[in-house]
Amino acid sequence: MSFPVTRLKRLRVSSGLRDLVRENKLSIQDLIIPLFVIHGENLKKPIEAMPGQNQYSVDRLVGQAEYLYQSGIRAVLLFGLPAQKDELGSESYSQHGIVQQAIRAIKNKTPDLIIMTDVCLCSYTLSGHCGVLQETQNQARINNDVTCELLGKIAVSHAEAGADLVAPSAMTDGMIQAMRMALDQAEFLEIGLLSYAVKYASSFYGPFRQAADSAPQKGDRKTYQMDPANAREALREAEEDLSEGADILMVKPGLAYLDIIYRLREKFDCPIAAYHVSGEYAMVKAAEEKGWVDGPRVLYESLLSIKRAGADMIITYAFEDIKNFLE
Ligand SMILES: [Zn+2]
Repeated sequence: MSFPVTRLKRLRVSSGLRDLVRENKLSIQDLIIPLFVIHGENLKKPIEAMPGQNQYSVDRLVGQAEYLYQSGIRAVLLFGLPAQKDELGSESYSQHGIVQQAIRAIKNKTPDLIIMTDVCLCSYTLSGHCGVLQETQNQARINNDVTCELLGKIAVSHAEAGADLVAPSAMTDGMIQAMRMALDQAEFLEIGLLSYAVKYASSFYGPFRQAADSAPQKGDRKTYQMDPANAREALREAEEDLSEGADILMVKPGLAYLDIIYRLREKFDCPIAAYHVSGEYAMVKAAEEKGWVDGPRVLYESLLSIKRAGADMIITYAFEDIKNFLE
């Protein structure tokens, strides 16, 4: 009988040893928490398709942001639901828009919490698309360059309100350059760009569309978001955004695209973010409600896998679950 010299289990026999040889760690500081802000007062509206998540009016949002900061969270990502939608999504760049109000209110109470803002038009336009629409036959097509200009205007309005980083998610070509130029011209030289550089036309976004009221009225987003079948194209998207001045690159969704995160990590030295999206969260919460899985453990393992793949930071709804798990 011959026995192996290498016994990998030797380093697994106690929790102390396992702690010592652990290669990746997930902490609260790695998480960025999305927050949905609505008009009105004293509102905290549960989002049915995302158990544990709410839409907040500005007054209630301030308290939630403060609580997150006190719990160790470094950054939040704001999404706004406008009072009214129109063709150009004009509330998105209004000084009195809901996101602009929210930024000022949070900064007033919790100045050290990093505020990132989603920069897109889909919650603000009548069409529910991520830009200004030009109808072409039956497909929804975005007027790319007009949309880029609007994204620049939105970015400047968020910076004026006090945002730390802006995060464009419209997947229009040239959006990073357009926003960088707009910000620089307005002398916001130090406002960073977190680009949704690699954003797939994914079915995992379902619950989010309820949260942000951003479902397309007609057609889908396949004419501007990426085909889930493509990986090499992701590198081109990332390269383009870096060359235009992106400070952080994001991959969205997270779990079904770990290979993409890994490829970006291998190729680029900039910080990489991943968005663990609404559907990825909601599926676990639904299974947890049925008693089929241990929610916090499954969510922790999911986020840890995203870190292992190479992400530096993760945008996620699973804050309470991870907090419970770590405690
Ligand atoms: Zn959008």
